[in-house]
Amino acid sequence: MTDGPGDGGQLVVALDVGGTGMKCALVRPDGSVAHAERHPTDAGRGPDAVVGTVLAVAEGLADRARAAGSTPVACGVAVPGVVDEVAGVAVWSANVGFRDVPLRKLVGARLGLPAVLGHDVRVGGIAEARLGAGRDARHVLFVAIGTGIAAAHVVAGSAAVGAHGAAGEIGHILVRPDGPRCGCGRPGCLEAVSSASAVARRYTALAGPSASGAAVSAAEVAGRAAAGEELAGQVWREAVEALADGLATGQALYDVDTMVIGGGLARAGEQLLGPLRAALHERMTFHREPRLVAAALGDEAGCLGAALLALDSLERR
Ligand SMILES: [Zn+2]
Repeated sequence: MTDGPGDGGQLVVALDVGGTGMKCALVRPDGSVAHAERHPTDAGRGPDAVVGTVLAVAEGLADRARAAGSTPVACGVAVPGVVDEVAGVAVWSANVGFRDVPLRKLVGARLGLPAVLGHDVRVGGIAEARLGAGRDARHVLFVAIGTGIAAAHVVAGSAAVGAHGAAGEIGHILVRPDGPRCGCGRPGCLEAVSSASAVARRYTALAGPSASGAAVSAAEVAGRAAAGEELAGQVWREAVEALADGLATGQALYDVDTMVIGGGLARAGEQLLGPLRAALHERMTFHREPRLVAAALGDEAGCLGAALLALDSLERR
């Protein structure tokens, strides 16, 4: 973090609202962070209470900027799920509990500032493409691998939203027709095979729970695979192979320079990226092979991306 919000310039208020926590910041027009804070989401309280917290935190940040002599000029909010960025509505989010919440209007009215609403992975991709691991590339596919798998296709710093706000659902590419059933209801989707939760589920199903009775996490599977355990290695390889199938489809569609891999599973680093690169290489025919890199901004990408979206909206006004 840097030298506090009190340098007299313009700042945007940015919030990334997740199922468990909110990452919040005051961000300068150059993308640097003047102040950052985190709050629990407590989604179990219900959507109205969560919206109340979002508004209070956003207002608190704007007040903090003013108190330090700076001028808050806009607010960007990122949420998971299905987001109608044009209408500014959080259409549906299972882990936060939002259903048709007109969050842009609510934030704008409360703060008296222009506000924008974005999808968490899409704005995370914007941040990685402009400030993070994809900053030297013009065509970037950001792929977040956590409990699910989602992507953002970013060209020259802007992410495609899609006709219905659902672009980038790479996790629901069919990779294994006879594979496990996905949360969306269909069998064999990429995220049913290669997400962190799928890796944990598959390993636990084959090996049984750990001594404590708890499911084995994807990070533990990665660790056991690295230590040479055969079953863990097999589960890890299956996930990497399916992921490479999904990314090869992504490259056929988007022809990017760089794929930025983020989310919880990417913490495995080269243990994921090394074999993934090799498996993707095998799948390339006439397509140019993209550079495959780990995300650089960690869990701050969504918050920074929300700020960039707010700054972009000011430029368009
Ligand atoms: Zn699916």
